[in-house]
Amino acid sequence: MKNAAIATAASILLAGCVSINETNVAPTSPQGPPPPEMGGLQFLYGSAEAAGISRQTYRALELHALARAADRPEYSVILTEGARVEAPSYVPCEDKPLAIVLDVDETVSLNTGLMHGRATGAMGGPGSQLAVRPVPGVVETIRTLQQAGITPVYNTNRTVDMGDLIADYLVSFGLDRPVQGETLFLNGMDDMGGNKDGRRWTIAESWCVVAMAGDQLGDFSEQLSEVEPVSARRQAALSEPISGNWGNGWYLLPNTAYGRALEGDIAEVFPEIESGGE
Ligand SMILES: [Mg+2]
Repeated sequence: MKNAAIATAASILLAGCVSINETNVAPTSPQGPPPPEMGGLQFLYGSAEAAGISRQTYRALELHALARAADRPEYSVILTEGARVEAPSYVPCEDKPLAIVLDVDETVSLNTGLMHGRATGAMGGPGSQLAVRPVPGVVETIRTLQQAGITPVYNTNRTVDMGDLIADYLVSFGLDRPVQGETLFLNGMDDMGGNKDGRRWTIAESWCVVAMAGDQLGDFSEQLSEVEPVSARRQAALSEPISGNWGNGWYLLPNTAYGRALEGDIAEVFPEIESGGE
């Protein structure tokens, strides 16, 4: 237990030195990493259970955002530049308009075309690679929050040249078309590449952010996302005070298809057993 705590602390301290892992970035073509286990695809894209998790996540986000909007929060749920997850501070809201910040891939849209192509090696007909469907619950929640004066702001690791495509996806779901640099932020808009922290700081300069949603830790804090190894990352996410954000301003959607959540060998995933019951 003590060793685990030390490892966590060391990992957090070292986190700033680790580069962004490419598996954190949504796939943009059927080429790329080998197909994930079919079970992960069945769960995320096919199961009622994943649909239920997504709907309950968005309902919880919606209730939280409406409650926060009613009493004008003092702070956004976005960490300030230079803040550490073990001693977090948050950007002041002042009199900025209210917003929620959403990742896009596997948070707002499910990449059914890309993942079908990756699983089967077949593209399934013209345009199928671009097939997407909304994550269950997201459209209802965004519409409800907009009626309460809360604006959706999207922060995606898709590159700037894909901005129109992303906007088209959102419009096809019945959502308003986002405006780049105002309500849509993409990889390449600053010099931080796939690190979303800089774009979050930019967003928090203009918006009072009452909730965030994503399917990767990097959708909330790059520092948290970069903790190594897997067991220390899991523990860091559950450590106070940052763990108090889950379900209380920070909302995670399931992703069993790709990303850093799928890292870890048997010893890392089952340490209490593999270490001999230590
Ligand atoms: Mg995502």
